[in-house]
Amino acid sequence: MKKFDAIVIGSGQAGTPLVFRLAKAGMQVAFIEKKHLGGTCLNVGCTPTKTYVASARRMWDAQHGEDLGIEIPDGAVANMKKIKDRKDALIKKSVDGITKGVTDNEKITYIKGEAKFKAEKTIEVNGELLTAPEIYINVGGRPFVPKDFEKTCFLTNESLLELDKIPEHLLIVGGSYIGLEFGQMFKRFGAEVSIFEKGERIIHREDEKTSSMVQKFMEDEGVTFHLDKECISGKREADDSITIIAKDADGNETKVTGSHLLLAVGRRPNTDTLGLENAGIETNDKGFIKVNDYLETNVKGIYALGDCNGEGAFTHTAYNDYEIIAENRFDGKDRKVSDRILTYGLFVDPPLGRVGMTKAQAIEKGLDILVGERPMSKISRAKEKGETNGYMSVVVDAQSEQILGATVLGVGGDEIISGFVNIMYAGSGYTTIRDSIQPHPTVSELIPTMLESLSKPEKENK
Ligand SMILES: Cc1cc2nc3c(=O)[nH]c(=O)nc-3n(C[C@H](O)[C@H](O)[C@H](O)COP(=O)(O)OP(=O)(O)OC[C@H]3O[C@@H](n4cnc5c(N)ncnc54)[C@H](O)[C@@H]3O)c2cc1C
Repeated sequence: MKKFDAIVIGSGQAGTPLVFRLAKAGMQVAFIEKKHLGGTCLNVGCTPTKTYVASARRMWDAQHGEDLGIEIPDGAVANMKKIKDRKDALIKKSVDGITKGVTDNEKITYIKGEAKFKAEKTIEVNGELLTAPEIYINVGGRPFVPKDFEKTCFLTNESLLELDKIPEHLLIVGGSYIGLEFGQMFKRFGAEVSIFEKGERIIHREDEKTSSMVQKFMEDEGVTFHLDKECISGKREADDSITIIAKDADGNETKVTGSHLLLAVGRRPNTDTLGLENAGIETNDKGFIKVNDYLETNVKGIYALGDCNGEGAFTHTAYNDYEIIAENRFDGKDRKVSDRILTYGLFVDPPLGRVGMTKAQAIEKGLDILVGERPMSKISRAKEKGETNGYMSVVVDAQSEQILGATVLGVGGDEIISGFVNIMYAGSGYTTIRDSIQPHPTVSELIPTMLESLSKPEKENK
């Protein structure tokens, strides 16, 4: 049995920085990764998709020069092979950097293999046993594949990113964040795109207005949506094309045949193959590892970080898990998961930036709130850019004047949202932004204006 001071399982957004921090503190660390250093975000998640989003936007610009008085001759072509090569080169540079950092560090023993618990503090990898008083689990998640699709020929986010030809007709099951990003980018690359969703609207966790605006601007670009389908299944045809059969509640059937199918119906944690039962580590009914506010599992000295603990589903939440562990362990801090404010983006174009509660969530909780709203069509900078899709809105606690949540769907929305995030972390009331001045001409300069005219919300979530 090989002994270490700590074992880190999984090179995700938490595990990777943690390994370096543990090593810096002088600890001997075993670092186990079964597939690729850098995990989901770098290899098959955020980095490749946002690289593709940028290529898709360049394609869109080439086709919309005329809107702004620029004559660009027809004939822009999205070269999937070159788009993929660019993405691969970007990833390789980062992965090479991590690989070098790991292999050059004599405190770190990097083991490529699949880790499995054999006992409470005993891990098996490649037939060898390792032990350490501290174990950090950072195994992330993988795409969920519904039973109906197990025998269909489908792509996931991983395999779709390996294509070097643009699909003729991409069928996407799942009208949520991943499905929408892929849908818009492949439409812009030149594919026909059809999106199927069980719910009556896309991105159902957002306010209705957000869902309908995103749907509208994607439809305007030519994406087709099939919503409110009670049952969605897939069938591989003799010529290798794929047919989606979608039934509504009344049994009416829609059949669409395409060349490729992307399943984007959610993710599940990689905890089922980890042998957690051998260590007595508890999971919830969805397989997420149960942790306390300090990310410790029910077994002392064993921690779970990132997507596998169900406390976040983003790179920034995984990284924040790393910070909580590292700063509490080495810097005498008292950081907790419950200190975190929910924030994220949806990187369609124009993007969505979100923080805290939606209007609907605040109303459902019965909170005494004030709301403000402004369409992008009433913002000069958006008009000047010729990008007036979207809106921004804010939810404020009527008594404490604290901002409870905000939505910025529109040009720059993914960056603009940080203004709200910062004020919420500062614990300062909404008047701090209302009474500030912002540079002109920007979309942000209308945030104080929006905050000058807060009002009670209408009951329905429109
Ligand atoms: C298509 C897509 C787009 C996304 N876009 C965004 C975005 O724009 N912004 C954002 O914030 N988030 C985004 N995400 C989510 C983000 O990628 C994840 O939240 C983030 O990567 C979670 O990191 P993690 O630390 O939990 O682990 P991961 O990054 O998932 O890494 C876990 C690692 O553990 C390894 N592993 C698993 N089991 C074992 C085992 N038994 N032994 C050894 N190693 C193991 C895996 O191979 C993997 O490398 C996206 C995800 C997808 C799929």
